[in-house]
Amino acid sequence: MNWLYRFMYGRYGADQLTFALIILYLILSLTLTLIPVPLIWLLAYIPMVFCFYRMLSRNIAKRQAENWAFLRVWNPVKNWFKSANQNFKAHQEYKYFKCPNCKQKLRAPRGWGKIQVTCQRCRHQFIKKV
Ligand SMILES: [Zn+2]
Repeated sequence: MNWLYRFMYGRYGADQLTFALIILYLILSLTLTLIPVPLIWLLAYIPMVFCFYRMLSRNIAKRQAENWAFLRVWNPVKNWFKSANQNFKAHQEYKYFKCPNCKQKLRAPRGWGKIQVTCQRCRHQFIKKV
């Protein structure tokens, strides 16, 4: 592995964008074969070529700037999926409802049957099936 270490020395290597390009390559190579256009599968190699070009590059500042630009787009997308997933889990565990008196949002663990709820804001009491 010494030769590899020496070969990669001073080169940029892998980052999050590298990983994204590999995923993109895998998706393209699976989907493009389904399109009946000659040689269209070659397009799948564009992200792969770019991926290797970046890893072997010595222009580290430029590669970092590319990765940051990628993360600026990718992080909000990732966070959206993360919060959607947490929301989904919360709705599996808790039942959400509003106080009939003051419209305060309340929640209670699911599966307890009929429970008496006391609103935290207005102290209104009501029966709710959860
Ligand atoms: Zn209330």
